[in-house]
Amino acid sequence: MSAAFETVVGLEVHVQLATRSKLFCPCPTDGFGAPPNTRVCPVCTGQPGVLPVLNRAAAELAFEAALALNCRLAPASVFARKNYFYPDLPKAYQISQYEKPLARDGWIDLPGAGRHVRIQRIHLEEDAGKLLHAVGSRELEGSWVDFNRGGVPLIEIVSEADIRSPEEAYAYLKGLREVVQYAGASRCDMEKGELRCDANVSLRPAGTSGFGIRAEIKNLNSLRAVKDALEYECRRQAEVLASGGRVAQETRLWDAQRGVTEPMRSKEGAEDYRYFPDPDLPPLVADAKWVAELKARLPELPAAKRERFASQYGLGAGDSELLTSDRSLAEYFDAAARGLGPAAAKLAANLIATEVLARLKAEGLAPEAARLPAAELGALAALVEGGTLSSKGAKAAFAALWEKGGSAAETVARLGLAQVSDEAQVAAWVAAALAANAKAAADLKAGNDRAIGSLVGAVMKLSRGKADPVVVNRLIKESIKP
Ligand SMILES: [Zn+2]
Repeated sequence: MSAAFETVVGLEVHVQLATRSKLFCPCPTDGFGAPPNTRVCPVCTGQPGVLPVLNRAAAELAFEAALALNCRLAPASVFARKNYFYPDLPKAYQISQYEKPLARDGWIDLPGAGRHVRIQRIHLEEDAGKLLHAVGSRELEGSWVDFNRGGVPLIEIVSEADIRSPEEAYAYLKGLREVVQYAGASRCDMEKGELRCDANVSLRPAGTSGFGIRAEIKNLNSLRAVKDALEYECRRQAEVLASGGRVAQETRLWDAQRGVTEPMRSKEGAEDYRYFPDPDLPPLVADAKWVAELKARLPELPAAKRERFASQYGLGAGDSELLTSDRSLAEYFDAAARGLGPAAAKLAANLIATEVLARLKAEGLAPEAARLPAAELGALAALVEGGTLSSKGAKAAFAALWEKGGSAAETVARLGLAQVSDEAQVAAWVAAALAANAKAAADLKAGNDRAIGSLVGAVMKLSRGKADPVVVNRLIKESIKP
């Protein structure tokens, strides 16, 4: 993008709360992928005469997400009807919150950027159903509506227009997802649509502080899509402005396959929705005692965890970021590193980053389902740190422990993986290697330091890989000294 313009982005993120039942009725929320219209009742299909009843668990998860995102909770928030007609919205209005949302004035840190993005508001609302357009099937030809998703609880998290680049949008969304997942408010599975993002984007002349005309991009269903779509849209708007044109205020759709945004409709304003308070629902009161209980239930959040991993275990930023990217992975590391010094903790972090993650991925498991208990992974790291096990031996022991279970110490002993550091034994191997490799020994004596490589290799072969390389190197050097 041209340096003449500055990017201004605000994100609206919809997150599906991890409740078992819907926002205003007892229907289950597990309708994703289920046969259509099998998770429905008169309430969530908008039959005449029914009354919504607020799901307390949804309110609690919404409050917890808001607290974790540093928001101020409203003493009382008010449900409002957002009126519009659409076939997947049977009441012809969505129950949302408008003038009095659940929470305001939060923020999320942008890791590495040294600043944060403000959150303007969070409100609670129900999801709509889903339209399916069937083409090419004689029995099903036409448009169908599935209400399984209708009435599922969402929170909408609206940021201020504080984001200045596609990379920052990516970092904001990643940080938001981590915090909401840690708080237990949502699983945020983007493939199931549990986190969906719309982006408002405009450009302004660099060095100015007003706002340009913005476009809203819909249909951003992965972190990658957000970054790619914003990069495309910034380029497009810069070209329009640079050629003296005007950016249209409109809603655009991201087409990931073609890598372009395309106009969808002109943008509606709040006045189009004729919001008014829902007379069927009382205000949601954030009772102080209730809020205190929810606050006490919040776990240690990702930023605090990263700081602690650095101070307690001496982990670098890269390791900390990887390990805290998932709450249960962070808990696994914490349990593995308990009682270890910084060197062994770093080895445990390495084993998780390589061996554990590879196995979890290959077997499609979540970290909490790891076949190797965290304590045994920690014991393995301690054996490497203490010199009993080489990193190659650790890999072999890890594989055996993952597949067969058992304790680290027993497995290392059973498989004969312990390194041999015993001086007399290593000295015997060194003597044999020197005798069998006279030329390399002579080269080394003559000052060719590189010759030591083949001698170490010979000792390793004789010891079947078990000789402690530190002792081997030392004894070879000692024995060729004049
Ligand atoms: Zn229902």
